[in-house]
Amino acid sequence: MPVLCSSCAEKRAVLKRPKTGHSLCKDCFFWAFEEEVHQTIVAAKLFRHGETVGIAASGGKDSTVLAHVMKLLNERYDYGLELMLLSVDEGITGYRDDSLETVKRNQQQYELPLKIVSYEELYGWTMDAIVKQVGLKNNCTFCGVFRRQALDRGAIMLKVDKICTGHNADDVAETVLMNVLRGDIARLRRCTAISTSSEGDGVVPRCKPLKYAYEKEIVLYAYFKKLDYFSTECIYSPNAYRGYARTFLKDLESVRPSSIIDVIHSGENLSVRDGVKMPVQGTCNRCGYISSQALCKSCVLLEGLNRGLPKLGIGKHHRLHGKILSQQPLTEKEQRKLKPVDF
Ligand code: SF4
Ligand code: ZN
Repeated sequence: MPVLCSSCAEKRAVLKRPKTGHSLCKDCFFWAFEEEVHQTIVAAKLFRHGETVGIAASGGKDSTVLAHVMKLLNERYDYGLELMLLSVDEGITGYRDDSLETVKRNQQQYELPLKIVSYEELYGWTMDAIVKQVGLKNNCTFCGVFRRQALDRGAIMLKVDKICTGHNADDVAETVLMNVLRGDIARLRRCTAISTSSEGDGVVPRCKPLKYAYEKEIVLYAYFKKLDYFSTECIYSPNAYRGYARTFLKDLESVRPSSIIDVIHSGENLSVRDGVKMPVQGTCNRCGYISSQALCKSCVLLEGLNRGLPKLGIGKHHRLHGKILSQQPLTEKEQRKLKPVDF
């Protein structure tokens, strides 16, 4: 006998919600998923009427679902937002060029303006060229740092008030676990925040409307809505550490689906003991971007690439920042340490 939808009790259930275990028909699932995102947005007061919001769009399932749901909720609940798509082209042949084609189709489908900023135009380096120099071990460090700043720069060019990103509940829970495992207290405190306020010039506030949406449900939503998204993994994706955290979390989820939300709640409720030293935010002396050091991470990584010393931005070499700023040459010993010999 077919199972009836536990919500409307009229139509046939076509799926079991990964988050709650409820058997639902397609329409009731769509409604539940969209309503939860709406509740998240309302409860955290993510947007104000009249704001311009840039949706970080990679062509992947998360950002495609985000763009679809943001457009739908903006109309259904009259948020009064002006939405735009904002993409970063990291310069990864065979991956980002294809996924950007998806974003361009999404732009047509959703009728939203699109801005693409590229690493090549911003930094003079593509990820293809960076991987050639640094190899496949620390490439994601470069990519992550550059992306963060690229999104800000794109958002400033577009004059948006806020950026929203497609980070989902699994991503947030993984990040909580990774920060616990690394003992990174400063990041642990920040990583569960649903939105960041403007921390200084050049930084556009960000928010995560899908923070409580399970990845499995995002996939189901995209599948049943027949959304057009790109599902290939990046060709330079080693990121082993996150991979372990991800596998661990998936194992936990298979035993107890609430694990994902539980980890997020744990992260949200952790408090840091008084007296624990936290980095003090200032600005980069070279580019003006936020930084807790004399030079921001992006400038140090770029300097390392341009000098052929890619390890400069990996690990702690803060005491060399003064030399870099004043364009002083490094000693042979300093240079030897930073050459990519054991990448
Ligand atoms: Fe960049 Fe690494 Fe992500 Fe590829 S997997 S897009 S290199 S951060
Ligand atoms: Zn800088």
